[in-house]
Amino acid sequence: MIIDVAIPIRISNSFHYLIDDELGKTLSIGSVVSIPFGNRNAFGFVLGFPAKSNVDLLKLKSITEILVLKPVFDESMFQLLKWVSDYYCHPLGEVISTAIPKVFWMPKKEKKNVEVKEKNSELILDEPVLGHSLNENQKKAVDLILDPSEKRPFLLHGVTGSGKTEVYMSVLSSIINDKKTGIILVPEIALTPQLTERFSKRFPGMVAVLHSDLTAKERTYQWNLITEGKAKIVIGARSAVFAPLKNLGVIVVDEEHETSFKQEDSLRYNARDLAVVRSKLLGAKVILGSATPSVETYQNALNGKYVHLKLPERVNQRPMPTTSFIDIKDKSQWYSPELRWLSRGLVNAIADTLNQGQQVMLFLNRLGFAHFLFCGDCGHTWRCKDCDVSLTYYQNPPLLKCHYCGVQKKVPVCCENCSGTKLDTIGLGTEQVEKTIKSIFPKASVARMDRGVIKGKKDLEKVLERIQKREVDIVIGTQMVAKGHDFPGIALVGVLMADASLNLPDFRSYERTFQVITQVSGRAGRAETPGEVIIQTLNPEHPVLLAASRHQQELFYRDELNSRKLFQFPPFHRAVMLRFQHTNPKNVESFAYQVTELLQKEAPRRFANCQILGPSEAPLARIKKMYRWQCLVKSESVKEIQGMLKLLFEWEKKQKSTVQLSVDVDPINFI
Ligand code: ADP
Ligand code: ZN
Repeated sequence: MIIDVAIPIRISNSFHYLIDDELGKTLSIGSVVSIPFGNRNAFGFVLGFPAKSNVDLLKLKSITEILVLKPVFDESMFQLLKWVSDYYCHPLGEVISTAIPKVFWMPKKEKKNVEVKEKNSELILDEPVLGHSLNENQKKAVDLILDPSEKRPFLLHGVTGSGKTEVYMSVLSSIINDKKTGIILVPEIALTPQLTERFSKRFPGMVAVLHSDLTAKERTYQWNLITEGKAKIVIGARSAVFAPLKNLGVIVVDEEHETSFKQEDSLRYNARDLAVVRSKLLGAKVILGSATPSVETYQNALNGKYVHLKLPERVNQRPMPTTSFIDIKDKSQWYSPELRWLSRGLVNAIADTLNQGQQVMLFLNRLGFAHFLFCGDCGHTWRCKDCDVSLTYYQNPPLLKCHYCGVQKKVPVCCENCSGTKLDTIGLGTEQVEKTIKSIFPKASVARMDRGVIKGKKDLEKVLERIQKREVDIVIGTQMVAKGHDFPGIALVGVLMADASLNLPDFRSYERTFQVITQVSGRAGRAETPGEVIIQTLNPEHPVLLAASRHQQELFYRDELNSRKLFQFPPFHRAVMLRFQHTNPKNVESFAYQVTELLQKEAPRRFANCQILGPSEAPLARIKKMYRWQCLVKSESVKEIQGMLKLLFEWEKKQKSTVQLSVDVDPINFI
């Protein structure tokens, strides 16, 4: 008997093996077997039982042993996994090994002692907490979502604090009454303890939580709850899109615009897009929720592919915050001649807010104390030896850190180049903001929220609780503060440098800026206190900042879509980024040129709509000792791009080059 086996390695096709007929009959699609591969033993997933093979039967090898009989995925999951493999041009074996936790397919010897029964906090039975009675807009949204005749995905487009989470919970409650199940995808589970808690309270005993911090044991336990049908709701980060729930009724993607739904290594999938695909394959509902939808999703709502549900008002008619700009180019605005990044206007507003007993939030998307250290005598700067970036300067404790490879160095006392001692720093980070703000407001209690101080769920819960209890007067943070937290006492939000994200070399830089400004502004005035937002910027007339501050969403999306169309970017054109990496700069460059020339030669004949841009050195030309080049392929037709990639892979196999080639379909990261 022949079986077709996918091995989790970077080779696209599956392989045929022989198995004894009797044994073979006990296997299913999704069983795991150990097989000889090259001169070693590998393991692989059974994909099927072909009647014949185009390889000579005498040349086929037999499997070594059966590792797992019970399939590690079911038929409907198999459909999804195959779709992923085709769409992302990624070998099926690796897709399966990414989607299914290791403990279920790892060789037996390594997975002893995983059968555990431990107490699970998420499944404790309690009296359910009832939801709010829904307002008109919420009711309308829930009714439309539950309408069985409506098969399209839903964009739940609701301003911050408009009650989207209440809508999800109401839909889920009805789905569960119908004996179905649901998945809630969140950008980063550690950053959303409040949401998880709300679901666990409303649906006691039904919620399983999947996230990357789980130990193998915990993951197995949660996964078993799901496959055994005990958990009805799964909350998790992107990989939870593969959660093996039966009778899936709905997938919710909360904050669908967040880039963390995209996996940025190995299998580069976007969980938001997979949620749409999986629900379509199953006939389940899918809800994409956001106050600031991605431009792609917005366009789908405009052209009717998705249903556009709007929650235009905050719950209980709480007003949206008012926004003003301070032009930080203007010297007369500076707090002092030395402090150019802080305006007197903002300092006064902070003082007023504190006097009224309210809380303040300051936002800056830069970690550390300063961008870099330089020598005032010779101009030397300290850079990472393995990455093409400067080292970020931290003051407490004093360190130079590389944000790409994690290297840390002691801060030097003199210049390694000229031995000069006039070392100084340039650029602003949250650490410096904290120090300065503490010196201006010595009586205020200040807390920082960024990856420098918040290392995990515990740290975050602690600081959120302190803010909630009003033990903190001023919160200073990076993106982390913008992520949907409900802080009732924040009356003033200050954006310190709105320009930082406007000028990144990425076609989505305007979209990102619009989203982050809208999201941080949304933290102001969540309760009775009306909110105020002050934006410090070099460009107070910038249309993106103006649209964000005036809550003119339609205007922003219209302009942005026009420019995407003009420059042939997504969502009008599909993009695929080819990345090349090698330790030798010459090898990577010449391979990138070879590939690009091959594609440019083939394109006019076979893929007339494809544009091939590049090759070019990546903006970050070296990371972790690897030199990096890239080539961008764009086309209106995904099919064409996929055809071209097939051709490329066949050619690549013959080259036997040591340059790493990776394919990023629908890329998000251009750096
Ligand atoms: P979003 O997810 O859009 O930010 P939430 O669902 O978290 O909004 O709602 C914001 C706040 O308003 C929460 O504290 C929630 O409990 C409350 N809320 C939501 N819907 C209602 C409602 N219909 N009536 C009263 N309060 C509500
Ligand atoms: Zn580095």
